[in-house]
Amino acid sequence: MQIELKPSAHPLPAAEREARLAAPGFGRYFTDNMVTIRWTEGRGWHDAQLVPYGPLEMDPANMTLHYAQEIFEGLKAYRQPDGGVALFRPERNALRFQHSARTLAMPELPVETFIEACDALVAQDVEWVPPHGGEASLYLRPFMIASEVGLGVKPANEYLFLVIASPAGPYFPGGVKPVSIWISQDRVRAVPGGMGDAKTGGNYAASLLAQAEAAEQGCAQVAYLDAVERRWVEELGGMNLYFVYGDRIVTPALTGSLLEGVTRDSLLTLARDLGYESEEARISVDQWREDTANGSLTEVFACGTAAVITPVGEVKTKGAAWTQGSGEPGPVTLRLREALLSLQTGNAEDPHGWRHPIA
Ligand SMILES: *Cc1c(COP(=O)(O)O)cnc(C)c1O
Repeated sequence: MQIELKPSAHPLPAAEREARLAAPGFGRYFTDNMVTIRWTEGRGWHDAQLVPYGPLEMDPANMTLHYAQEIFEGLKAYRQPDGGVALFRPERNALRFQHSARTLAMPELPVETFIEACDALVAQDVEWVPPHGGEASLYLRPFMIASEVGLGVKPANEYLFLVIASPAGPYFPGGVKPVSIWISQDRVRAVPGGMGDAKTGGNYAASLLAQAEAAEQGCAQVAYLDAVERRWVEELGGMNLYFVYGDRIVTPALTGSLLEGVTRDSLLTLARDLGYESEEARISVDQWREDTANGSLTEVFACGTAAVITPVGEVKTKGAAWTQGSGEPGPVTLRLREALLSLQTGNAEDPHGWRHPIA
């Protein structure tokens, strides 16, 4: 699909952009431009444009505001050693975006159009990609909303797809620090037959109260259990989990109510490349506690695009609390983290063709 290029005539002056790139944080600053593509029933996808970043005009009866037909993605562009820029496995995000769209009765954007939109925005705003040499990146946020106006409950007949971009600093500016986890036994984020395996804002809204409860318990993140038996470990609000048993890493199997992370999937392969065993299996909260106590479960970490890999240091749930391993980032966690980041930033071989260079 041809994207019409109508970029901002007034990009942020270089000095101001550099000041923002020096301390970007996460999701605070946005680049000069964005991509928008419309979909209308009977006509399909049309009007692909790259335009100045700016507010959307919206009718108060826009259906998204009432019935939450909204899906999104998150992926990063990393500056490579040769000065170029590469995305990491964007086709996986594009395919997941299609899956999310199906789940919320929205139209599916072709994979190549999703990737073209990301490529076009990064190419236009390439000065916003932080320099090579650290963990900083340009975070891309593709998303889609309904744009039909009306209060009748039905799938909308018009949609708007957008890509915006925001520079992201290193997740751990002071070095990798373990996080504390609250395992919620009262609240669930998703149910079988629901939309837990779709990347949609509704799942995040559903996680905020449990997140606040975790904070009251002094914990940084919530781990959710399955909704039926309240026994099987699923994931965090926005990250998948891995359990390290010596040289074997295990991640909760996909049951339909957890989100299939690109990072999770990459680690299943990358771990094998590094000589570890990797597998998907069901892990109960009792097994988590017992295997920590008997020493067979040596490390636990969370993974996702934003934080890459985050070690788990302390775990708390109703009636129990334990320190995970030594409470410090473990060697397998750190080795996988380094290997994945090296691949993303172009410091390592790319045997699986995961880097997608921007022309
Ligand atoms: C996005 C997300 C993840 C991580 O997925 P990545 O593709 O690795 O970034 C995990 N869980 C949830 C609920 C998510 O929304």
